[in-house]
Amino acid sequence: MTARLINGASLAKTMRRGFVDRVGKLRESGLTPGLAVILVGDDPASAVYVGRKMRACEEVGIRSFASYLPATISNAELLGRIVELNANPEVHGILVQLPLPEHIDMARVLETIAVEKDVDGFHLYNVGGLVTGNVVFSPCTPYGVVKLLEHENIPIQGQNVVVVGASNIVGKPMALMLMARDATVSICHAKTRDLAQYTILADILVVAAGVPNLIIPQMVKRGAVVIDVGINRLPDGRITGDVDFAGVSEKASAITPVPGGVGPMTVTMLLENTIKSAEHALALT
Ligand code: NAD
Repeated sequence: MTARLINGASLAKTMRRGFVDRVGKLRESGLTPGLAVILVGDDPASAVYVGRKMRACEEVGIRSFASYLPATISNAELLGRIVELNANPEVHGILVQLPLPEHIDMARVLETIAVEKDVDGFHLYNVGGLVTGNVVFSPCTPYGVVKLLEHENIPIQGQNVVVVGASNIVGKPMALMLMARDATVSICHAKTRDLAQYTILADILVVAAGVPNLIIPQMVKRGAVVIDVGINRLPDGRITGDVDFAGVSEKASAITPVPGGVGPMTVTMLLENTIKSAEHALALT
């Protein structure tokens, strides 16, 4: 079997074309959606991610406001900046690029963002909403995975899903979102004993561990759908996921490539959440 390629880059492009129309309608009504992005410190990878998000905003007509703050900023100053943005009617989404410097109280920062502007979905209210079904904004990477599965008409209900990786930003919300769609979900992590005994049972295998070649063909059930969230830079500079793509493609029925799979969907869902927030703000006026 050679797996069908799940093309995230292509779906992201189609969705972004639709966003241009949605943003156009908002602008005609006198409201330009706005995303505020806060970058603390000068981590080069974070700067690249922030640049990418702002460019994506520009492409669909969302206004972006960047705050480049020094790594030495105090907790109080950073919280003050967020409070200002919460009150700014031109801002519909607020994103604080993670990771933050050690001395910053990340939990406090994320909880200070107004829930109705929490387009990254990391506020405790939104995290709790993933459990109860009252989510305002879903976190972008797992939301992008759900969109990909839906677009590919891959059934979720009743399927055995195994999520490898249990971080707060990918693995845990991923598991909750698929559980909410009535999948039977197992979560594995670095302390899981004999990972393969779980992965081999998966109808849908989502891998977000950050370990190149963690998933090899022997660990995958024939016909499984494999979603590779991992982004790893190899010593030679190439970007690779967590799955042995060539080997697993021979066993899976469908698979996401890296790059070009989940990655482009993450920023797309950030745009979606920002537009949704702006549409909500317009409905309230
Ligand atoms: P993280 O380091 O916060 O969490 C990694 C998780 O994987 C942990 O739960 C850990 O226990 C688990 N893990 C590590 N080694 C493992 C092993 N050998 N076996 C089983 N589980 C193992 O990372 P994260 O922020 O969740 O990101 C995970 C990966 O996804 C990274 O490669 C990251 O770059 C990528 N990522 C991609 C996107 C995207 O848009 N495609 C977005 C976020 C993260």
